[in-house]
Amino acid sequence: MAEVVLKHVTKRFGDVVAVADMNLDIADKEFLVLLGPSGCGKTTTMRMIAGLDSITEGEIYIGGRLVNNMLPKYRDVAMVFQSYALYPHMTVYQNIEYPLRIRKLPAEERRRGVHEAARMVELGDLLERLPRQLSGGQRQRVALARALVRTPTVFLMDEPLSNLDAKLRVQMRAELKHLQHELEITTVYVTHDQIEAMTLASRVAVINEGKLQQLATPKEIYNDPASLFVAGFIGSPSMNFLSGEVSNGAFAGQGLSVPEVGNGRGLKNAILGIRPEDVSVVDAPRDAHATVRIYSVELTGESTLIAARIGRDLMIVRTDKDFAGAIDSEIHLRFNPAKTFLFDAESEQRVRI
Ligand code: ATP
Repeated sequence: MAEVVLKHVTKRFGDVVAVADMNLDIADKEFLVLLGPSGCGKTTTMRMIAGLDSITEGEIYIGGRLVNNMLPKYRDVAMVFQSYALYPHMTVYQNIEYPLRIRKLPAEERRRGVHEAARMVELGDLLERLPRQLSGGQRQRVALARALVRTPTVFLMDEPLSNLDAKLRVQMRAELKHLQHELEITTVYVTHDQIEAMTLASRVAVINEGKLQQLATPKEIYNDPASLFVAGFIGSPSMNFLSGEVSNGAFAGQGLSVPEVGNGRGLKNAILGIRPEDVSVVDAPRDAHATVRIYSVELTGESTLIAARIGRDLMIVRTDKDFAGAIDSEIHLRFNPAKTFLFDAESEQRVRI
C-alpha cells in the first residue's frame, strides 16, 4: 500500500510560513493534484514528501512508514519536475536507463525496462538521440520515462507539462491520465492550472497561502466550493461575485434582485456567486433579475462572453455564439437561482442560509 499522509505539516523558511498545518490523506493509487496560485506552497509540500526539504513541524508517512528523517533515496519516490534536467551527454536511452543503472539492475532487465518506459511515452524512435536533438515536449517525455522506468511507490510531479505548448499539453495530459490508469501508482501532482487539475485528479487539494482550502473530487470542488477562494479559482472564466444582502430568501444588490436563493434567513454582508454559464440573456424585462449595459463582447468560438457592469462589479455571462449585441446597448439577465452560491463577505466562507 502506498498511501501518503501528512499530519499537521508546517514548513517555515525564517519568517515565511510556506506551508501551514497541512493535513492530507492521499490514498493508495490515487492521483492527487495540489492546486493553487504561485507561491501558495505546492512545491514546498512536494519537496517535503520527497525529502528534499526538511519538515519544521508535523509528520509525513509513506506506505505507513514515518519518513520525516528518511533520506530521499530510501523513500522510493520518483520525481518529475518542471525543469527536466536530462544528462546532456547521454542519449535518450541512457537517460532513461540511468535510474536502473544506479540500482545495479542486470543488463537484460534494464533493456526491457527502458523499452517499456519509452513505449509508454511514445519515444521508441528517438532512443539514440541526445537531449539537444529533441524538442521541448520530447525532452519532457524523456524525463517522464526516466521516472516511469523503475515503478516507484509514489510519483511526484511538479508542473511536468508547463514547458509544452497548448496542443502538446492536452495530448500529454491524456497520456498521463492513461498511464496512471495503467500503472496504478499513487501520484501527487502540482499545478496552478485548474483545467489540468480538473482533468487529471481523482481528488484536488486547493491550497492558498500555505493552507489547505478544500480537498475533494474535481466535481465537488466545482459544484460545491467551500469558500470564495475555491469558487473563484476553479472555472474559466471564473465565477461572478456580486455584493449585496440576503433577506427573506432573496438576494438584493446594486441593480440586481434574485429571488429564491436561500432558505429564509438573512445576511447583511453577502456575496452572491454565479458562473457565467448560469446566467441567461432574456428578452422580457419582467423575466429579468438585472438590466445591464454591455461593456464588451468576446466570441470564443463555441460561445460568446458578455462583460457587463452591475453596480461596482463586472460580471461575465456566457451566451450563444450567435449573440449579436452592441457595446453600450442594454440587455436583461436572468440568474438560475438553483446555481447560485452564497458567501459571507467577512469570513469569505460559503454559507447556507
Ligand atoms: P509556484 O507555483 O510559483 O512554483 P508554489 O506554490 O510551488 O509556487 P512554493 O515554491 O512552495 O510555492 O513557495 C511557497 C512560499 O515559500 C513562497 O512564499 C516562497 O517565496 C517561499 N519559499 C520557498 N522556498 C523558499 C526558501 N528556500 N527560502 C525562503 N522562502 C522560500
